Amino acid sequence: METRLFINGRYEEAHGGRRFADIEPGTEAALAEIADAGADDIDRAVAAARAAADHGPWPRMSAEARGKILNRLADEIEKRARDLGLLEARDVGKPVSECVNHDIARAARNIRFFAAQAETWTQEASFGAAKFLGADLRLVNVTARAPLGVGAIIIPWNSPLMLGTWNLGPCLAAGNCCVLKPSELAPLTSIALGEIANAAGLPAGVLNIVPGQGAAGAALVGHPGVDGVAFTGGVATGRRVMAAAAESLKRVTLELGGKSPNLVFADAGLKRAAAGVARSIFRSQGQSCVAGSRLLVERKIAGDFIPLLLDEIGRLKIGDPLDDQTEYGPLISAAHRERVDGFVREARAAGAEILGEPRRDLPERGFYYPPVVLDRVAPDSHAVCEEIFGPVLTVERFDGEDEAIAMANAGRYGLAAYLWTGSAERALRVGERIKTGMVWVNSFFLRDLRTPFGGARQSGLGRQGGRYSLEFWTEPKLICMTYPEDDANG
Ligand code: NDP
Repeated sequence: METRLFINGRYEEAHGGRRFADIEPGTEAALAEIADAGADDIDRAVAAARAAADHGPWPRMSAEARGKILNRLADEIEKRARDLGLLEARDVGKPVSECVNHDIARAARNIRFFAAQAETWTQEASFGAAKFLGADLRLVNVTARAPLGVGAIIIPWNSPLMLGTWNLGPCLAAGNCCVLKPSELAPLTSIALGEIANAAGLPAGVLNIVPGQGAAGAALVGHPGVDGVAFTGGVATGRRVMAAAAESLKRVTLELGGKSPNLVFADAGLKRAAAGVARSIFRSQGQSCVAGSRLLVERKIAGDFIPLLLDEIGRLKIGDPLDDQTEYGPLISAAHRERVDGFVREARAAGAEILGEPRRDLPERGFYYPPVVLDRVAPDSHAVCEEIFGPVLTVERFDGEDEAIAMANAGRYGLAAYLWTGSAERALRVGERIKTGMVWVNSFFLRDLRTPFGGARQSGLGRQGGRYSLEFWTEPKLICMTYPEDDANG
C-alpha cells in the first residue's frame, strides 16, 4: 500500500517526513500513516505540473494519442478493481460490493468516457468579411479550445476514486496537467493512482497527488501556478476556495452539499417509492452529496407509505464493509458520528420522534450509526435545513403540488430532487418548478455521463459531465485569419 506523495512520476516523502494517521472506519484502528503535504510540497507538485503543461508533450498530443494512454489507465484500474475496491472499502467504510461494482467501475468509465468525448469534440470556424488598411478582406474565424494549463482538483472522502476520476478524466483528456488533493480521511485509492498512471505510460508531471491535512488545500488553491480549481466538498470550504481563487482570478467549479427532497405523491407506486427513498438516503450511510435526506410525503398516503419505508430499512444488511453481502457500513469517523448524533439529539430534544424499531444489530467495533427516520421535525430546524451527511431522514407531510413545491424549495441547497409519481405530467410540472440542478423521476441517481451534474443555489457553481466539463477545463481561443477578396495574381 503506497502512502507517499506522487510528484513528477515518483513517490516521495513529504518535506521533513511529516505524516498523519489514516483511521479505518470499520475497525477504528490506524490503517496507514500518510505523507502530509505542506506548502513546500504543494510548490513542488505544482512546479512539476507546470513544467509538464508548459514544456511536456501532453498538451500538444492529439486527443487520440492522449485517449490511448487514458484508456490504458482505465484498463489498469479495471485490472485492479477488486484490490482498489477493498482498499476503498477499508478507507471509507463503504460496503465493498458498492465500491467494486459501482465506484471503481465508474472510475474506469469516467476516464474512458472523457477520453472519447475529447476525441469527438469538434470546434468551430466561421467566414466573415472586413475592410482593413484599404483592402477588402475575407476572414476565417477559428474558435479553438486550448487546455487551461494546470488544474487543482480537491475531492472529498465519501467516493474518492469515483469523484477523483470524474474530475481527472476531463482535465487530462482536454490536455491539462494537474495536482490532485484527496481528503485526509480517505486518501489511499487516490495515492494508488500514481502507480496506475505510471503503468499506463502517462508522462511524468501530468498527474501529481498530494494527500495532506490542514494546509495543503488552501496552499494549492492560492498557488499562482494553478489555472483552474475543481472543488468537491462542503459549502463552507467552497466559499473559502472561491474567495482564495478570486485573489488570483482563477476559474472555479464547485460541487457542494445538498439537502435533497424525496417527494412522494399519492399516485406513486408506493412499494417501489419506499425502496427508492430508502436507497437514496441510506446508501453509503447517507454520506452522499445527492442523498435524499428529506421525505416529503402526501398526507393522505403517509400512513400507508411510512410502514413500507420502515420495512425497507429493517431489511438493510448492516455489517462489515469488507463482507460482500453488506449494504450498510460505518460512518467515516468518530467525529462525524458525533456530529450526526448531535443533529438527532437536538431534534429529539425539540420534540421529534424516531420512527420504527431502532436497529440494534450494529457491529461493536467501527463508527456505526443506525439508520434514523425523524418525524415531527420543525421545518426551520437544523435537522431539516442543514446537510447532515449521514443516515438521517426527516419526514414532512404536504397537501397538493403547490405545498410540495414550496416545501422542496425551502432552504439554501439546490442539488437534486426525487419525484415519485405515476403521472408524467405531474413530474414535468413539478420538476420545472423545483429549484435544483437535477430532478430524478421514479429513480435515484441514474447517470448519463453526457448530462450536466451539479447544483443550483448554495449546492454549487458550474456543471460537470460531457461537454460541460471539457468547457471548464479549456480556454476558448479565437484565431482570426484573413485573405484578400480578389485574387491578386488573377
Ligand atoms: P470539506 O468541505 O471539509 O473539504 C475538505 C477538503 O478541503 C480537504 O481536502 C481540505 O484539505 C480542503 N480544504 C480545506 N480548507 C480549504 C481551503 N481554504 N482551500 C482549499 N481547500 C481547502 O468536505 P469533506 O471532504 O468533509 O466532504 C464532505 C462534503 O462534500 C459534504 O458537504 C458533501 O455534500 C460534499 N460533497 C459534494 C459532492 C458533489 O458532487 N456535490 C460529492 C461528494 C461530497 P486541507 O485540510 O489540506 O486544506
